[in-house]
Amino acid sequence: MIKIDGSRGEGGGQIIRSALALSAVTGTPFEIERIRGNRKKPGLLRQHLTAVNAARDVCDAGVTGANLHSSHLIFAPGKIQAREFNFRIGTAGSATLVVQTVLPTLMTAARPSRIIVEGGTHNMSAPPYDYLDRVYLPLVSKLGPKFERRIESYGFYPIGGGRIVIDIEPAQDLSSLELIERGGKPNPTVIALVSKLPLDIGKRECDVIRRKSGWKPDRFSVQEITNSPGPGNVVMIHLVSPNVSELFTGFGKRGVRAEDVARGVYRQAKSYLANTAPVGEFLADQLLLPLGLAAAQGQTSRFRTDRLTMHGQTHIDVLKLFLDIEIEVQQIDDAFEITVGPAIG
Ligand code: ATP
Repeated sequence: MIKIDGSRGEGGGQIIRSALALSAVTGTPFEIERIRGNRKKPGLLRQHLTAVNAARDVCDAGVTGANLHSSHLIFAPGKIQAREFNFRIGTAGSATLVVQTVLPTLMTAARPSRIIVEGGTHNMSAPPYDYLDRVYLPLVSKLGPKFERRIESYGFYPIGGGRIVIDIEPAQDLSSLELIERGGKPNPTVIALVSKLPLDIGKRECDVIRRKSGWKPDRFSVQEITNSPGPGNVVMIHLVSPNVSELFTGFGKRGVRAEDVARGVYRQAKSYLANTAPVGEFLADQLLLPLGLAAAQGQTSRFRTDRLTMHGQTHIDVLKLFLDIEIEVQQIDDAFEITVGPAIG
């Protein structure tokens, strides 16, 4: 039984989500204490609890401590199940983070699955659906599994009510990934989504980014969202290079001016463009787990990122608890090169 202190390193929700994913895939039980011990409201929130229950369902696990606000959990995985799953968060908690918890298990299962997740689709501090669709899943599919996905309704904080559907065609033998260069200059597109709010918000966001970037007007669009039960706004900068696609998101918030949301997201994109590494900080963090699974099968992958966050570092520590792998971090010029491979010797 692997023992985890959930307050170590970053001490947030990712430790438990990754532990669940790795436990389900490898069939290794774990016990975690001080769940989200570094957060103001520690313990399992609704989103994390849905992730626990989702992980339980995909591997028929025995679980102790799966309650709201619980700080202690024992998870004993059973046999992997591949079928249709419907996970309801019940709040605007992030649906994509629940997807990322069960995906590693289902994408390496013996048979195809479908997951339907209801909750928030565009949440602060989580990958928005568009990130899953345009950045994360295209890269993970280079390892072998294939994904058909769609968003049926959008869920914004605080109402939620979003719904995403993903069909998973698994691959039991994973390939490696090499992502050292972008392969060319990133091509930008800017999309502002507006639901049940004046469309002018999206237009103002686009205006700020257009003035700051000098990108051509045909790169910008404002999209009215009509299939969401609540109001919401995000502005996304999508940068597509030959080898990788990255997406930066500004989340509209009551009391924050549209111009400031736009400035914030442009700052993120500018920082990515000032470096040459293909992988941004969030992607670095999220790629580690699938690459770790490939490494456990003997595949060595490498990527370059402009920064390795505390989040990423903590993720590496969790991966090493469950998988017999080596993860090497090397600073090369202004980037970090991360090599994820099987354990040596
Ligand atoms: P808490 O921090 O409250 O425990 P949490 O469960 O949301 O909350 P975190 O540990 O912060 O968990 O993990 C958030 C995840 O969302 C990380 O994998 C991070 O890479 C990803 N993420 C955050 N913001 C973005 C963004 N704008 N785009 C893409 N991914 C993001």
